[in-house]
Amino acid sequence: MNSFVKVLIQPILEAEGQKGIALIPGGFKPPTIGHFALVDEVAKNSNFEKVIVLIGHKNRDGVSKEESKEIWDIYQKYLPSNVEIKIAENPSPISDVASMIKNNPDTFFYPIVGIRGEMDLGDLKRFDSLEGKYPNFKTIVIRSEDGGGRISGTNTRAALIGGEKERFQSYLPTQLSQEEKDKAWSILTKTPLDEVMYAEPSEFSYPPLIKSLTEFMLDKGMNIRPLPKVKFVNNDEANAQDFFGKTAYYNPNNRVIVLYTMNRHPKDVMRSYAHEMIHHMQNCDNRLNNITTQNTNEEGDLPEVEREAYEKGNMMFRGWTDTITEGVIKEETEDDALSYPSTFKPGVNILVIFKENENYENLKPYFDEYGYGFYYPESKTIIINGENFVDSDLDFNDLKFVEAHEVTHLLLGHTGPYSEDDEMDADLGAYILLKNKGLSTDKLVKEFKNRHGIDFDEKLLERVKNKL
Ligand SMILES: [Zn+2]
Ligand SMILES: [Zn+2]
Repeated sequence: MNSFVKVLIQPILEAEGQKGIALIPGGFKPPTIGHFALVDEVAKNSNFEKVIVLIGHKNRDGVSKEESKEIWDIYQKYLPSNVEIKIAENPSPISDVASMIKNNPDTFFYPIVGIRGEMDLGDLKRFDSLEGKYPNFKTIVIRSEDGGGRISGTNTRAALIGGEKERFQSYLPTQLSQEEKDKAWSILTKTPLDEVMYAEPSEFSYPPLIKSLTEFMLDKGMNIRPLPKVKFVNNDEANAQDFFGKTAYYNPNNRVIVLYTMNRHPKDVMRSYAHEMIHHMQNCDNRLNNITTQNTNEEGDLPEVEREAYEKGNMMFRGWTDTITEGVIKEETEDDALSYPSTFKPGVNILVIFKENENYENLKPYFDEYGYGFYYPESKTIIINGENFVDSDLDFNDLKFVEAHEVTHLLLGHTGPYSEDDEMDADLGAYILLKNKGLSTDKLVKEFKNRHGIDFDEKLLERVKNKL
């Protein structure tokens, strides 16, 4: 037995009396080699017929009860078979202990408390009040002389936050294979992609973009591990209608970024994400310490961290959008993308990309949202989904129609969310641009009613004529 475990376990070994069930409530955020050794020793002690580990609900530095359970599940196979591990029914696992004692008067319990100081004092007091009232338990309070410093949850979380994989893994049970240690690491550092989405943000799929931008930030060496959780709110009508409504915020206490998506342009939402990620980085750097009780979207109170979030957030966002288009341009000699200057507007680049291109998946959500193509102002590029032109009756004229439509959006300064009026104006402008270059407008005219509910009429061109 390790010496630190011995210090921890000694009071248990000395416990005498009748057989019973050991209850081990704790935070376990995350479970460490110390927790593992404790449970292991208790389970091997013949005094205890069974050991029940109860995981508390409180998040610690972004580590959740579910993640704690996932890590315990890895440990389980190295523990004796009489060990049961579960998430407590009550937010405080001490409440579970209390109700088990009350509800099972014929069973004798050994609650083992005080593990690494993770229980708060209020819990212990409430627990003490059972003493004397119920004869079917005996509390074992554990103290470790060195405070368990080397293997405490706090140190383990610090390693996690610092992205120190090796140090983190040194706090895990030595029995684990390297693969299992890697799994534990990835459970606690997984990308937001795998995290809970509370509300699906319309038909627009953010996760691939969130993942792509997050990977970009990691590549740039930003200190953002453990990655935050991302929550989308797409059903907040009142907020969406309020001009001063929230767009996003970061809660440093539980490391959650909340993005409001209703009636917002997806790129605007992604820009918000970049901004909040800077706040997350500030938190990982321990620079939000004095403001942990407020959300960082309360601008004005926090000029320095705010300024940084705006500047770095925008920089990151721009850098990221550049890589998406650059990556494609680099591949232009391949079959998976075409790049050429716009026929209609000097300085604007056209990029037609096909599904074989490595960036296609990142762009797909935009295509799903906007149809044939969209404009990326950061790199002055109109990106067109080439897949629409493969094995279809769409041809060169349609490609030019798409380009002219997007260029018109650009010329008219359309930046807001999707609107019917903007769409019609973009087609009307496209008609003028195509005519000016002697290109076909047949398809545009033919599809006009389908797209806008009314027949094409040259009189409609008045709407855009003077603005192009
Ligand atoms: Zn901010
Ligand atoms: Zn459009």
